[in-house]
Amino acid sequence: MTKRNITILGAGLVGSLTAILLKQRGYEVSIFERRPDARKTDIYAGRSINLAMSTRGWHALEKAGLKDAMNAIAIPMYGREIHAIDGNIVFQPYGKNNEAIYSVSRGELNKFLIDEAEKLGVQINFESKCTYTDIASNTITIEDLEGTKNIKVDLLIGSDGAFSSLRNAYAFADKTDYQHFYIGHGYKELHIPAAENNGYLMKKEALHIWPRKNYMLIALPNMDGSFTLTLFFPYEGEPSFKSLLTDEEIIAFFKEQFDDAITLMPNYLNDYKTNPTSSLVTVKINKWTHLDKSLLIGDAAHAIVPFYGQGMNAGFEDATTLANIIDKYKGENWTSILDEYAASRIKNGYAVAQLALNNFIEMRDLVADPAFIERKKIEKELGLRYPNEYLSVYEMVSFSHTPYAVALATTEAQHELYQTIINNTTNFWEQLNDDNYIAQLSIWVKQYSVKANNILANA
Ligand SMILES: Cc1cc2nc3c(=O)[nH]c(=O)nc-3n(C[C@H](O)[C@H](O)[C@H](O)COP(=O)(O)OP(=O)(O)OC[C@H]3O[C@@H](n4cnc5c(N)ncnc54)[C@H](O)[C@@H]3O)c2cc1C
Repeated sequence: MTKRNITILGAGLVGSLTAILLKQRGYEVSIFERRPDARKTDIYAGRSINLAMSTRGWHALEKAGLKDAMNAIAIPMYGREIHAIDGNIVFQPYGKNNEAIYSVSRGELNKFLIDEAEKLGVQINFESKCTYTDIASNTITIEDLEGTKNIKVDLLIGSDGAFSSLRNAYAFADKTDYQHFYIGHGYKELHIPAAENNGYLMKKEALHIWPRKNYMLIALPNMDGSFTLTLFFPYEGEPSFKSLLTDEEIIAFFKEQFDDAITLMPNYLNDYKTNPTSSLVTVKINKWTHLDKSLLIGDAAHAIVPFYGQGMNAGFEDATTLANIIDKYKGENWTSILDEYAASRIKNGYAVAQLALNNFIEMRDLVADPAFIERKKIEKELGLRYPNEYLSVYEMVSFSHTPYAVALATTEAQHELYQTIINNTTNFWEQLNDDNYIAQLSIWVKQYSVKANNILANA
C-alpha cells in the first residue's frame, strides 16, 4: 500500500489538528495557509479572543495526545452567571455533576497546534493563499510571495474556514445543495482588564451573560485576569449598531443596559467605536467529499453561529471521526473512507447549525425568564433521579458524544415530556414527597426514554 500524500488548505484550529492526527497515522502532510505565521506576527492585532471548549474538543486533543498541555491554560466555567438589568446576579450551573466548559485562548491554541504539527514534520507554507481549486483534476492554485503556481495534489482537505476555496468549488458541482445565510445580528468585542496581580474583577469560573431579550453581552475569562466580552447586537432597528452613533448615545445605552459591566470597563467607549463589527454566517452544504480525492472539514463544511460554543468542537469531532474511519479501513480504500465520513458527519453538521441558531434565543432571552429557570431546575432533578433515562439536550451537546442530529431530534421529545409534567402537576417540588406522583413521573420518563432510544436507534 502506498500512503496518500495529504494537502490541507488552512492552518486554523481544525486544519492544524487534522494535520497532527494524519501525521500520527504516517501520512506526508503539507498545509497552505493564507495568513502569516501567528507565532511570528500578531495576526490577532492584540485582541485576546477566547473560545469555549467542551467534551468533543477535549476528546480530540486527547486523541492527539495534547490534552494535558492545553488543560494547563484552560479555565473551567461551571455555569452561566446571569447579570440582570438591576444588577442582580444569579448563577445557573451547566451540568448536574459540576461539569464545566473551558475558556481557552484561540491564539494560544492555534499556535500550540501549529507548533505540534511542525514538530511532527508537517510542512506548513504560510502566506500561501489558495485562489482556485479544480476538483476534477485535484489541482489547486496557490498565490504566495513568489507568485502563482498550480499544484496537482493527491488527497486534498479543505479546512479553510467559512469562505473555503474548496467548498466554493463543491458548491457548483452537480446535485449539490448549498446555502449560506447571515443573521441580522453582528458582534463586537469589548474588554474588562485584569485586577491587580492578575486578579479577576468578576467571578472567574463562569460564562457571564447580560441577556437583554433581542441582544446580549457575554464575557469569558482569560488566563491573565482579564475578560473578553462580546456584544451580539442587531445591525438595524432600535437599539442597534446603526442607531447608536454619538458618544452620548453609546454611553446612555451602556449605562442603561450594562451598568455593572461598564464600571469594570474603563475603555468601553473607545473599544465600541474602534473595534470592528463582524457578521455571523451559517453554511450548509450536502457535499463534503469528492470521490477519493478531497473532503471538507470544520467551518469550511459547517460554519455556524457561535451561540452553543460548538463550532470548533464540531470541527474537532469531524477530525476525530475521520481519524477513526481511517483506522477502521487501515488507511486503505479511500472511496469508502470518504463515503463513510460524509455519511456520518453531514447530518450532524446540519443539526449543530440548527442547535446553534436555537440557542441564541435561549442565551439572549430565556435564561432570564423565571419559567425557563424553573424548567432547568426540574430537568436537573430528572437527570439526577433518572440518570440512565434523562440527559438534557445541553448536556448531550456539551458533555457527551451524542451525535448532534440525535440531540436535535430529542429536543422535541424532551419538550413533550416537560409539557406532560407541568400539565399534570400542581407543585413539582412538593409532589416529589408523594409516592403515587413519583410512580407516575417514572412512567412519563420511561415513555420519554422509549422515544429517545428510538431516535438514537434510527440515527
Ligand atoms: C464570535 C465567535 C465565537 C466563537 N466561539 C466559539 C466557542 O466558544 N466554541 C467553539 O467551539 N467555537 C466557537 N466559535 C467557532 C470557531 O471559531 C470556529 O468553528 C473555528 O475557528 C473553526 O476552525 P476552522 O479551522 O475550521 O476555521 P478557521 O478558524 O476559520 O481557520 C481557517 C484557516 O484557513 C485559512 N484560510 C482561509 N482561506 C484560505 C485560503 N483560500 N487559502 C489558504 N488558507 C486559507 C485562514 O487564514 C485560517 O487560518 C466562535 C466563532 C465566533 C465567530
